[in-house]
Amino acid sequence: MSESTVKKERISVLGSTGSIGVSTLSVIRQHEQRFEIYGLSAHTNAALLLEQCKQYRPRVVVVTDTKTFEEISEASLLSDLDIELLYGQDGLRELVSSEETDTIVAGITGAAGLESTYYAIIEGKKILVANKEPLVMAGGLLTKASSESGALILPIDSEHNAILQCLGTSFFELGKHPTVEKIFLTASGGPFLERPIDTFHTITPAEALCHPTWTMGRKISVDSATMMNKGLEVIEAKFLFSMSPEQIGVIVHPKSLVHSLVQFIDGSTIAQLANPDMSVPISFALAYPERIKINVPQLDPLSMGSLEFYKPDFGKFPCLSYAYDALDYGGDAMIRLNASNEIGVQAFLDGVIGFTDIAKVVACSLEQSSTVSPSSVEEILCQDAAARAYAREYIARTS
Ligand code: MG
Repeated sequence: MSESTVKKERISVLGSTGSIGVSTLSVIRQHEQRFEIYGLSAHTNAALLLEQCKQYRPRVVVVTDTKTFEEISEASLLSDLDIELLYGQDGLRELVSSEETDTIVAGITGAAGLESTYYAIIEGKKILVANKEPLVMAGGLLTKASSESGALILPIDSEHNAILQCLGTSFFELGKHPTVEKIFLTASGGPFLERPIDTFHTITPAEALCHPTWTMGRKISVDSATMMNKGLEVIEAKFLFSMSPEQIGVIVHPKSLVHSLVQFIDGSTIAQLANPDMSVPISFALAYPERIKINVPQLDPLSMGSLEFYKPDFGKFPCLSYAYDALDYGGDAMIRLNASNEIGVQAFLDGVIGFTDIAKVVACSLEQSSTVSPSSVEEILCQDAAARAYAREYIARTS
């Protein structure tokens, strides 16, 4: 079969103007003979979305913010290019459920990405998960739905992508991997690894947003500074790889070159290394189970220097231990963890609370947890809304 008659994989990128979306589109542009863009979605960045429409000519565009939707609907570009414009969560559902799209890249930040991720899984799509919150909030429900629909969930998060690379392509055939003893997620430690704990209360949003090794969105940068990001990743790993909490370790590795390690029952440990560039995990997930050439600098083993690994400091970064607590507790604790953290991070970025207050908001919210596990997306969204309301009320009461 000649290349021109091979059907291209039709990809929809949710959150296309965010940092994962932009990196995904740049990998796709390097392989236009293999991939084409079917859909894009964005929240508020109208200018970049229009730019992406010109460049990638999607068939469908979804805008989730009302004002931005109005702005985009007035732009003549979409009708000139014959692009269908949809709105909101219903629009996202219509996009991910379309038979015209094969693969969904879920890059919407926070809980806002849950419904679209769920519907893509129900439809049995190949779904590249970059937003960890849906798995944290609804891991049980999403993994059950994927085993029923046959959806392939591939992590883009660099640590989980590294684990998948270490497990090898037999992972999905084997299901729960019987030969794995333990996995270690590496953590850069964020910008405050060396900072004395007695100065943590003076940390500003600008300092928290300044990550030493990765360039990321605002929410995840703050999560990285509190190490909640790693806590959410522990929960994500539990559901993606069917591991028990005892099998998931976290080690601090400031250089962010080793992205995670897997220990097997026969004494072998396999690690994945790469320069910290999200194009690497994105291309692995896009082409899975193959590999494709992308335009990134290779890691030079001779210039790596020494690779250091430390135990995380749970006293300095209590959010990490709260994530393990939530996992142990079950019920709605992971929903509460995620919701209260999102509210706390936003309040910190808005200058309403201090850096160390984020962990306090999370701790107090977790104390309200119930052991009742949600059984539908609607229930999860309800519990999520209640947890947010509690966190907001707690912040208003204490700040
Ligand atoms: Mg990560």
